[in-house]
Amino acid sequence: MRRKYILISAVLLGLVVISCNHANQRQQTGNSGTAINAVAVKDSVVVKQSVNTSAQVYAKPEVPVLCYHRIADGIKSEYRVSPATFTAHMKILADSGYHYISPAQLYDYLVYNKTLPEKPVMITFDDSRLEHSTIAAPVMEKYGFRGVFFIMTITYNKKNYMTTDQITQLAKAGHTIGLHSWDHTMVIKYKEAADWQKQVAEPKNKLEGIVGKAVEYWAYPNGVYDHKGAEELSKYFKLSFTLYSKRDPVVPLQTVRRMIVPECTSQGLLKSMHRTFEK
Ligand SMILES: [Zn+2]
Repeated sequence: MRRKYILISAVLLGLVVISCNHANQRQQTGNSGTAINAVAVKDSVVVKQSVNTSAQVYAKPEVPVLCYHRIADGIKSEYRVSPATFTAHMKILADSGYHYISPAQLYDYLVYNKTLPEKPVMITFDDSRLEHSTIAAPVMEKYGFRGVFFIMTITYNKKNYMTTDQITQLAKAGHTIGLHSWDHTMVIKYKEAADWQKQVAEPKNKLEGIVGKAVEYWAYPNGVYDHKGAEELSKYFKLSFTLYSKRDPVVPLQTVRRMIVPECTSQGLLKSMHRTFEK
């Protein structure tokens, strides 16, 4: 079944419910008319949480989100870093006081204004490559980091890609597992309900069965999105991640930017992060 996450349009219509308890729930428009407060009353304890509008989400400072693909020696590609470079990158982030954050923390920051640790960074991986499990995860864990692995599910148990067991192990070790479509077809090509079923709904269900928890995050194949696709994805995911595309101000939660990390020095990585994400 599709999970319906908080849609900004729903916020504006005052349809937000933040608690599943059986207490009275009501919504009210904030004083400014720009935010909705949902109030739940349970045993005379009042829980109040305000939800940001899309404009408010869009206005918040972006958090650096890194995107790695291949981690290997001997391949010429802008989507590759060597294992030594990857290790150096994790070391400089740790030595410079960066704290990894999960997509759940980013969502709570964007939607509920929850506080993030100092110098937050999210470390993500696309395409379910074998070395994500054998190289990236152990290096990150050594430095106390956890990452986000976006799986294209056609690769299950294929040569040079992660097995389903390895994906499960990543989830058990505290990493986040997200979806990267069934076979890497771009979202702008999903024309019919059957396409959404094949590329999103079915692989999401199967991946949830493998990791034993909800899969709530998406990375666009090739980083490419359009407005309609982003709106549709909000029915399935809390957050969706692009690459360098501009964010969509109407659906900022479904167009979170990432930077592809190239083969570069540690100082080069820090400079690129500042340049890409600081206004
Ligand atoms: Zn990809």
